[in-house]
Amino acid sequence: MKLRKGDTILVISGNNAGKRGKIIQALPKSNKVVVEGINIRKKHVKPTQTAPQGGITEFPAPIDASNVMLVCNKCNTPVRIKINRLENGERVRVCRKCGREVS
Ligand SMILES: [Zn+2]
Repeated sequence: MKLRKGDTILVISGNNAGKRGKIIQALPKSNKVVVEGINIRKKHVKPTQTAPQGGITEFPAPIDASNVMLVCNKCNTPVRIKINRLENGERVRVCRKCGREVS
């Protein structure tokens, strides 16, 4: 998966299409990402010792990585990226639009 925690993404399909957000968790095994403010679900929580009030909490649920596009932090555009391997074996992600490295 080409997405990492901290990346800004644009949602391209589903209920949240067109929204931008920041990845707060990447789940490479299931090919999903959790994005700040996107795909908010409500969970009814019973009172426990750590949360004595219980009640309803809202949390962002994971969405499929194929439904989002990385927004290049250099040209501020949703782009496809390619992986370049440097001579020292390090992999860097390169924006296909502006050709610069996406950090
Ligand atoms: Zn770019």
